[in-house]
Amino acid sequence: MLQTRTAKLRIFPDADQAGLLRETMSAYTSACNYVADLICSEKVKADKYRVHDAGYRQIRFRFSLPSQMAQSVIRTVFASLKSLESNMRSHPEKFRKKNGKRKKIVPKFRYPQLDLVRGRDYSLLWNKEHTERVFSLNTLKGRIKVPFRSDAMDWAFADGAKMGTAKVVFRKGKFYLHIPVTVEVPDPPESSEITSVVGIDRGIRFLTVSYDGEKTSFVSGAEVKQKRAHYKKIRQSLQKKQTSSARRRIRAIGRRENRWMNDVNHCLSKTLVRDNPKGTLFVLEDLTGIRSATERVRVKDRYVQVSWPYYDLEQKLTYKAQMNGSIVIKVDPQYTSQACPVCGHREKNNRDHEKHVFRCRECGYITNDDRIGAMNLQKMGTEYLQKMKVS
Ligand SMILES: [Zn+2]
Repeated sequence: MLQTRTAKLRIFPDADQAGLLRETMSAYTSACNYVADLICSEKVKADKYRVHDAGYRQIRFRFSLPSQMAQSVIRTVFASLKSLESNMRSHPEKFRKKNGKRKKIVPKFRYPQLDLVRGRDYSLLWNKEHTERVFSLNTLKGRIKVPFRSDAMDWAFADGAKMGTAKVVFRKGKFYLHIPVTVEVPDPPESSEITSVVGIDRGIRFLTVSYDGEKTSFVSGAEVKQKRAHYKKIRQSLQKKQTSSARRRIRAIGRRENRWMNDVNHCLSKTLVRDNPKGTLFVLEDLTGIRSATERVRVKDRYVQVSWPYYDLEQKLTYKAQMNGSIVIKVDPQYTSQACPVCGHREKNNRDHEKHVFRCRECGYITNDDRIGAMNLQKMGTEYLQKMKVS
């Protein structure tokens, strides 16, 4: 199965190259707006070939764009027009004037942008010393070679990965390439190929609790909680200083904290996939709508709970599971911590938060309350699988 994901890579042009890139982006954006006006002034019908005939020479000479880029401009404008039209079909009310008449659709390109076609406008090369790879990018004045950082994007450079048209993005003084990359991933397992169901509960006391029907595994959250409190303290003391060097240090600490969280999630997801067989159905709570997640914890813990990147963990787990022939599903989190995993009886009083004990008021089942969520998720996954097998 083919899957396309976007790789976001920071690139590091030197001062001259940065100037050239910004100039090229600005010319490209002006050319996009020019073509958009050409179409919408109805001098030219919204037809790629006619626009090409009427505008191509203009785009090339007026904005000094190389011929390939001039063609990309036309494609960019039509892609934007198409997405506006589909937006209008799903939300027609947004495209009406006060008198009820339909607004004219005109794509507007406000932010500097630049699309580079793989092979023609950009490519991946080795540097002169042959020690690292660089991107070669086309600009108004020929090609430039810029180093980049791939961080957690190694998958984009794997054998068989195909890079598509790159977008050059400029945000807060930094340049990035956003590149859609198509990779081959294994097909998701059929229900008959699933051999194991694992419920994964995410929280604070334990970053994850997983239950596979027999054994429970806990990953303590204590160290993470401590480290986050430590980062928070440094940040707060720096914020009081209000000097530019303090602000720089705050940013540096933020980056370090992000890298560390990224590592933790990487290891967590790797371990979960490695410790369970191929063909595992992982069951997570659907945490969309963060409110319900914050309500589950004491206010004192709120900073840690809300800002731990669970969504990132979920994405990493989903990708790694997929590469290993397993699958991740998400279920409604309601009552997963209150219901009895044995008889299904649901009652708030089943749980004693002080003693960390779960005791079912109906059937008397007793266990450590930290594993209840994972047990219920595992149970929901098993039921889901049975339904899939019947249908
Ligand atoms: Zn019970």
